Amino acid sequence: MKRRDFLKTAAVGSVVAGGALAGCNRQADDAGAAPAIQTQKTFRWKMVTTWPKNFPGLGTGAEFLAKAITEMSGGRLEVKVYGAGELVPAFEIFDAVSRGAAQMGHGSAYYWKGKNPALQFFSTMPFGMTADEMNGWLYHGGGMALWEEAYAEYGLVPMAAGNTGVQMAGWFNREIRSLDDLRGLKMRIPGLGGEVLKRAGGTPVNLPGGELFTALQTGTIDATEWVGPYNDLAFGLYKAAKYYYYPGWHEPGTTLECFVNKAAFDALPRDLRQIVRMAARAANLDMLSEYMARNNDALETLVDEHHVQVRRLPDDVIGELRRLSAEVVAEEAAKSPQATKIYQAYRGFLDKVVRWDDISERTYLNVREG
Ligand code: CA
Repeated sequence: MKRRDFLKTAAVGSVVAGGALAGCNRQADDAGAAPAIQTQKTFRWKMVTTWPKNFPGLGTGAEFLAKAITEMSGGRLEVKVYGAGELVPAFEIFDAVSRGAAQMGHGSAYYWKGKNPALQFFSTMPFGMTADEMNGWLYHGGGMALWEEAYAEYGLVPMAAGNTGVQMAGWFNREIRSLDDLRGLKMRIPGLGGEVLKRAGGTPVNLPGGELFTALQTGTIDATEWVGPYNDLAFGLYKAAKYYYYPGWHEPGTTLECFVNKAAFDALPRDLRQIVRMAARAANLDMLSEYMARNNDALETLVDEHHVQVRRLPDDVIGELRRLSAEVVAEEAAKSPQATKIYQAYRGFLDKVVRWDDISERTYLNVREG
């Protein structure tokens, strides 16, 4: 066993038992053997997240993943979740896992666009892919290989680990009848959606989730997007604004991610590596399923009990937002050769899959109710 490998193994992954044997086992694993002593080895990982601990859907999704890995491995790989700020602030988890201060992170790739504009395409884009389309691209359309290549530069192994599905356009304290109503609108809408709103004449504001309700209620902002009925009901946003608009053009299927420190991942025996990968796949599906079920219940509560006015954005407003989004996304894609390459792959898949979408999901949903 090379000394360098041993140091790497010891530095990350907190080998609790049999540390000196870890490297030997790894060589045996690589040769395809599975010595009995492997079962004696225990790893303890820290998962740092961008969400408050157990935050509905997102934080609970991180817990689902940690629990799945711990239980599927029979406790050989124990993952403990830390909410935003517990070990590191929300937006520092990428760097923390990259340098090995924690072994695993749970967030969404658009948070790292300031670091590298190419990374945001693995999260969501205004007027971009839905959850199903993203999963098709990532797992069977070449997206995952590009994601792994991009994160390898940071010593990280990425995995899709959840999806919110189509979000809502947000809560507005006034009706949106035309583009004029967007002018001067002060709205909490982060990321590229915010840039699009700005070009439509609005004023985008970025506030953490915990401040939305007060900001909206006191009139500091006129509108806010958050996620969808499930999360928005929990925040009580219906008490602060009357109109609830759809569709969530700015976040049509946000992919959540987990990423693992590559040295820690490589130090695992093959079966544990596969458990981590399969647990992430299970978490990816489970979160989307949870949002489907809970959004549906929460929407009923919002409309039937709280008499929320659910409105569709007018066609001309959507048309202009779509035009501006294409502009903004093209500028992001031009920011680096890597961003261009990833965006072209993303766009290529989306342009191609639309033909199938049209005659499958879109047609079916339109004819189902007759
Ligand atoms: Ca959102």
